Amino acid sequence: MPDSFPISLPMAPAQSSDGCSSGSCSSGGGCCGGGTVGTHDDNAHGVTIGISGMSSKATDELRRLPRWLKRNVPKGNANHFTDRVLDELRLTTVCEEAKCPNRMECWSQRTATFMILGSVCTRPCGFCSVNKGKTEALEVDEPERVAEAAARLGLQHVVITSVTRDDLPDGGAEHFFRSVLAVRERTGAAVEVLTPDFLGKPGALERVVESAPEVFNHNTETVPRLYREVRGRKSQYSWTLGLLKRVKELNPAIKTKSGLMLGLGETREELFDTLADLRDVGCDMLTLGQYLQPTPEHLPVVRYVPPAEFDEYGAAAKAMGFTSVASGPFVRSSYHAREMAEA
Ligand code: SF4
Repeated sequence: MPDSFPISLPMAPAQSSDGCSSGSCSSGGGCCGGGTVGTHDDNAHGVTIGISGMSSKATDELRRLPRWLKRNVPKGNANHFTDRVLDELRLTTVCEEAKCPNRMECWSQRTATFMILGSVCTRPCGFCSVNKGKTEALEVDEPERVAEAAARLGLQHVVITSVTRDDLPDGGAEHFFRSVLAVRERTGAAVEVLTPDFLGKPGALERVVESAPEVFNHNTETVPRLYREVRGRKSQYSWTLGLLKRVKELNPAIKTKSGLMLGLGETREELFDTLADLRDVGCDMLTLGQYLQPTPEHLPVVRYVPPAEFDEYGAAAKAMGFTSVASGPFVRSSYHAREMAEA
């Protein structure tokens, strides 16, 4: 899920606390749905942040942001602990690469979403701030380093996503497989994968399913009418649905999950039609979050969806049969992933 409007967040004073998760990457991954944070130092509980990243007219833009996109960030130094672990183990997270607005919250709770297969993506999604360009060689010890980080952070639910690697013969499926097994063996934690579509490469999806993650997440990101514009010409709505359906066919015990970013111009009717399609392929879990433009070069926000409307969509999704739903402006694919999986 980049930035010409960097406003640095002041580090919170020493104290402690301890974790988090629709937008994860995975091509989109929407882990993130983008967004940068701006700060206001007016709160007794820490800093108040407003999401922006909308343009270079920082102050003006921030003033125009709706109130609900400002919130408190907890004090504490646990985010430093998370930062240090990730740094020591040379790991990449979608939290940072996608400029997730929840990073302070999640990292202060010692939760992060690991991004494997490098930090350079092969798809030009219009919403995502992850770097595009020349890809990097796979690091064979990355799965073990992810497992080590999960152990040090004490994670009981580990979310693993990736950039999209259309350049690899298997799209990176084997690396996902090894990562799931490494985490399980090292920590015993439940594992959630948030994968790209693997371009339908033969055997790729099957290999990831073989690792039996507790949750298999693949983001829909948006409604079919906007699919090409948002996800690029290599992505297809039918592939997304087909992938989620196939996971269930291969292993019905795996919970499937998907997410959409709202505010890209979708209509209410289109949204409900998409949710119905997801239920038709047996999708169990759903995340709905506000899209935020990471830089002026990315797709613009068409609308800020009010929290009450997110609540309404969440309730409707539950009534449609999704077993677990997270719907709100700050919701991202991996936001509160453990709680969603255990609900
Ligand atoms: S919501 Fe997910 S991507 Fe964002 S900070 Fe939390 S764990 Fe990271």
